[in-house]
Parts: sequence; C-alpha cells; structure tokens
Amino acid sequence: MKKSFIGLTKPVLEYQSLTGLMTKPEKIAIPKKASLFFKGAYSQKDAVLLKIGEKVKTGQKLCLYKNSDEYAVSPVTGTVSLISSYLGNFGQSCAMVTIDTADTEEFDESFKAVCAAPSLDTARNFLTGAAGSPCFGCFSDPEKKIKTIVVCGTDSDILVETNGYIAASKSDIITKGVSILKKITHASTVIVALPKALVKDAGAIGGASGAELREIGSEYPSALPLVMMKNVMGQPVPAGKGPGDMGVCFFSAEAVASIGAAFTDGRIPVTKTLTLIRKDLSRVMVEARIGTPIADIFTACGVTVSEKDRIIIGGPMTGVSVYTEEHPVTPDTDAIMVQGSEDVSLVSDYPCINCGECVRICPMNIPVNMLVRFLEAGQYEEAADMYDLHCCIECGLCSFVCVSKMPIFQYIRLAKYELSRIPAAAEEA
Ligand code: SF4
Ligand code: SF4
Repeated sequence: MKKSFIGLTKPVLEYQSLTGLMTKPEKIAIPKKASLFFKGAYSQKDAVLLKIGEKVKTGQKLCLYKNSDEYAVSPVTGTVSLISSYLGNFGQSCAMVTIDTADTEEFDESFKAVCAAPSLDTARNFLTGAAGSPCFGCFSDPEKKIKTIVVCGTDSDILVETNGYIAASKSDIITKGVSILKKITHASTVIVALPKALVKDAGAIGGASGAELREIGSEYPSALPLVMMKNVMGQPVPAGKGPGDMGVCFFSAEAVASIGAAFTDGRIPVTKTLTLIRKDLSRVMVEARIGTPIADIFTACGVTVSEKDRIIIGGPMTGVSVYTEEHPVTPDTDAIMVQGSEDVSLVSDYPCINCGECVRICPMNIPVNMLVRFLEAGQYEEAADMYDLHCCIECGLCSFVCVSKMPIFQYIRLAKYELSRIPAAAEEA
C-alpha cells in the first residue's frame, strides 16, 4: 500500500502482476468424493428428484428439486451418496449433494447432442454450472436489453490472478467464446478488459474476435465491475441498480473460455482454475475438478492448516471465510487463501474514533464513519436512506484501514443481505 507521509492523500492499494504465476498449474487428482451446492434450505425433501444410489456421469445436468430450473453439472462419474444441508454465510442454508467417484469415467452426451447449433437456450440450459459459472440471467429479463458484453481478463481482488492467467494462456478459446456469445446474445459490442501487463499477451482476443480492448488501471478496486462501469464504460451505475440495468453484462475470461470450449468439444468444462494463496502470500495456480474438497488441494500443494488459521474463499479484500476444509470448489471459486493465525487481524470492540480513514479511502465517497454507527445499531433502513448503503461497491477498503479494526465490510454485507430479505419476508407474511 502506498501512503503519503503527511497523510493528506488517499492511500493506494495496487494489484499484483502475474509474475511467477505463468508456469503450468498444479493439477489436482480427481477427488474420491465431489460435492455440489444447490440454493435454498434443504427442506423440500418430498420434491427431491435425485436419489441416494443414483448413478451420474461427468457433465450430466443434475436437478435437485421438481419444479425448479436450478441445476448443477456433475464434475465426476459416480454415485450420489449423500444429500445434506450446508450452513453458509449469514446463516444461509443450502443443499449439498455428494457424489462418490467411480473408477472409470464416462461422459454424458446430452450437451453434445444439441451443441452443433449454438443458441442462448442451449447455453442457459447446460453451461451455468461450467467452470467460471457463465451467467445468462440478464438475457432472460425482458426489461434489460443487453447491448454490451464485458469480458474480464482480470480479477477484481488483489493477489488473485485466475482470469488474468486464463486470458494470457487461452486467448484462442476465449476468442471462440466471444464469437459464440456475440452470435447467441446479439450483443452489438464486446469489450475485453485487461490489465496493462496483459495487453501484449492477450491483446489478440480483442482484434481477432471483433472485440474492443480496454485497459484496466492498476489501483484497487479498478477491476470491480461497478468501478469499470464508471471508469472504463463511462456509465456510472445509480445506487441500487446493476450493470444489467444499463444494458451491460459482465463475463469472466474463464466463463467465456468455458463457452468456447463447450461448443467446440461438445463437453461441459468441469475443471476449475484457481489461485491458491499460501500463508506466506506465495501463490500457485491450481486446476481442480469442481466439487473437489479444498483439503485435497491443500494436501497436493503442501499447505497445512493449523488451529486458528483462517481459510478464505476468494481474495483478501472481498473473500469469505469458511469453517471446514471439506468445503468444495464451486464453479466460481477463483481463489482460496490461507491466513496464518498470527496474521489474522482480530476484530476489536473499540468504538469508532472518527479518525476519517475509512471516509478518505472509500472510492464511492460514502460517509462510512456515519454509516457504521447505524449498521452497528442494526438500523439498516436508515443506513440505506440516509448514508448511501446501496452506493457501496463492496471493495472492503474501509475495513482494511479502520484503526479500530471494526468489521465495517461485514456489517455492510449483513445489512444488504437483511434488506434483500424484506420483500420475500413480507410476501410470506
Ligand atoms: S466497502 Fe467500504 S470503502 Fe468500499 S465502497 Fe463500501 S463503504 Fe466504501
Ligand atoms: S476508520 Fe474506523 S475508527 Fe476511523 S472513522 Fe472509520 S470506522 Fe471510525
């Protein structure tokens, strides 16, 4: 972090370059058990379609509930051995399906049978569980006319280089993916966003596929989509809205590579690339099947997790800690970080001393020192109405600089989550 001596300018946190990560990724063996998450509490047991003992093939679409469009893609061939409940962040519960892997791998051919003529329906029906988690939701909303697709060849958090690595090493398949995306979505413009260091290596993606190339700044959080909307697209997003409301949809480089590979090979990509950040902050690129328990990755990469160490899914600024090494790799796991107990900064019970560090660093100019008072008191609606809660782009910088070590970012996420539940709760009532 660069900070001026007299402290009158904002401190600056910069993204790292890909130096040292362009070696071949560490390939993790196919796991003995793979687990997949399904949204929502595992309560509708009568409506469950999958059965214990059911055989599944690699690349097979799995639907857990009747009358639900949600699906996952089996990353292995094997037998469904367990359907259980998993407790996630903020006490949110979801269903977890565990598959015992068979000795011989067989590939499901359902996607191959329909992939010769790429269409948005085919992509939506088969690829959202692929590596990189391509999301086509905004193309289903008639109120959102998507005209521009942004392909992110950069990662939004510091120390994470997954999509930068993919942009630099898989430019051919991303170019195919961009062509297919343009064709099936009818988007008029595709923009490839790259950090300066990658423009030379991955710049061909822009030219060969008719996409425009844009350079992303090196200061955190330039690669967060909402910041890109303002700085790269020149279209600031109003509070409470998203890029989709402005006709823009973001895809990671890995998601686009998955689309390109799937429609070329007829197989849904189920191997995830991710950055493993060790306790000493050294990093290694890893390739593992979706569903692999992160314990398998730690064993293969020589990482030991001791008592009071912290496991974080995602990067150091915006990642979420998990409580078990059995947590599986998901289609959107771009990084796993292990923080040694000596580096975990403990949350204190000191009050806000009004130092103003959080206000000076906030890229959205939110009066964080005021906001945090309402969040601490659980007054979320007031925080949203009076202190710009919904303008927050969730960069985590305020927590990072807080001298009182207040968990401001966690308060913000909790507040947004609680407010998002109000319409559903009102409907239920
Ligand atoms: S996380 Fe904190 S610093 Fe970042 S935008 Fe939100 S309030 Fe501002
Ligand atoms: S950085 Fe922390 S202590 Fe300082 S004003 Fe912000 S919330 Fe208060």
